[in-house]
Amino acid sequence: MRTLLLTLLVPGLLSAQSVPSPAPQHGQRPARMMVRNALVIEGNGTPASGPRDIFIEGDTITQIAPSRAATANQPAGTAVIDAQGRYVMPGLINMHAHFQDERAGIRMPADYQLKLWLAAGITTCRDLGSDFAKSSVLREQSKLGQVIAPRFFLHRTFSMPPAPRTPDEARERIRQFKRDGADGVKFFDLYRDIMEAALDELHKQGLRGAHHAAVAETNALDDSKFGMTTIEHWYGIPDAALENGVQSFPADFNIAREIDRFRYSGRLWREANPDRLKMVLESMVKANVAWDPTLNIYEAARDLQRYQNQPWFPEYLHPALERFFAPNPEYHGSFFEHWTTTDEAFWRENYRLWMGAVRQFGHLGGTITTGEDTGFIYNVYGFGLIRGLELHREAGFAPLQVIQHATANGGKTLGQGHRLGRIRTGYAADLLILNGNPLEDFKFLYPPVGNQKPGIEWTIKDGIPYSVPKLVADVKAIVRDAKKK
Ligand SMILES: [Zn+2]
Repeated sequence: MRTLLLTLLVPGLLSAQSVPSPAPQHGQRPARMMVRNALVIEGNGTPASGPRDIFIEGDTITQIAPSRAATANQPAGTAVIDAQGRYVMPGLINMHAHFQDERAGIRMPADYQLKLWLAAGITTCRDLGSDFAKSSVLREQSKLGQVIAPRFFLHRTFSMPPAPRTPDEARERIRQFKRDGADGVKFFDLYRDIMEAALDELHKQGLRGAHHAAVAETNALDDSKFGMTTIEHWYGIPDAALENGVQSFPADFNIAREIDRFRYSGRLWREANPDRLKMVLESMVKANVAWDPTLNIYEAARDLQRYQNQPWFPEYLHPALERFFAPNPEYHGSFFEHWTTTDEAFWRENYRLWMGAVRQFGHLGGTITTGEDTGFIYNVYGFGLIRGLELHREAGFAPLQVIQHATANGGKTLGQGHRLGRIRTGYAADLLILNGNPLEDFKFLYPPVGNQKPGIEWTIKDGIPYSVPKLVADVKAIVRDAKKK
């Protein structure tokens, strides 16, 4: 009996004793890694399931299986993260990012933003406009695992001067962006003939489009008609559903003045006709135009004090951002010169109607993503996206759906539905190892303040584990140093 037991146990004992499993090292990709005993949230809206073991080779998830005896059949040297009692979900996809290494004329080390993004669980950024030369280098370095950063998809701004004036010039600009290596194009206000030509060429070149519409000739119905990939924020959606065709602005309204623009965009949704709005949302669903509502970025307009006094500011707010956020007509989004009770009241109503439309769009089968657009309006990198998750919850989506918006839907909308946004065999090893249950509370995903325990323990991108406590220590040191100067 004793002999038999030993025979059965010895192989396990041998592998446990002679080949100890190394702990993962911050910033170093092991050849093989195993996350064991995890409660897995896949990212596609299905419930958590576990305990499961996730096997990773290089940058790819190679197997997901019910957990077994820990030492069984692991190749020697496999790095192991024990996720006993912990949740694991896909890395977050930030669909509205801007790489920024300067604000208000003050330099910020790139590490500040890049490490904050990872600390908040963001493993992929769609950059919708930044210094393309710098961002291209980052995109490449990230691909090769040479920089501590999320992966990037880069959109270039269509209308950068000299803006294309004719359909032919529009086509040429799209082809130029393709030659330069852009992944997509960011559009602002557009004339209809320019938009038609630009999007036709965009499709021919296999690029993607993101539209931040202005109050302009084209709106969400044109996005549906010509095949835009995503609508950013909300602009163009209520505009296509206005009761009177045009918003009732006061006589002295000047859209080039930011205080006017933001004040009255807070009074836009109330003028949308619900029947027309439904028709607009249906057209988007039918044309497969996704909606990236960026719910966090305007929230200061409904609750300015909340945003001016966020608990992470003392430790995490870089002085360059602090300067940039203070009211100043020179800086985009810093328009709160005289922001009134009435402005906030309108914006609260605006949010209710906007969130209702996002919910309706979801019910109709539309694809919803998450993007933070931080670096503006009191929104700090990473924190903005987590606040966005909370606001998707407030809009009425179940926590599993919110996670789907921030993971699988982002992957699909980037054209990476086979590779990004899910914990599934063959997908990129982008995982968050969590100290709690995100379905219960999104708040613990915020980078930790003071002595808080971090909610995200490890952010794994392309199979490279990053320790969140190390990332936040680095970021806090950058902020302390900048404040001394
Ligand atoms: Zn933006």
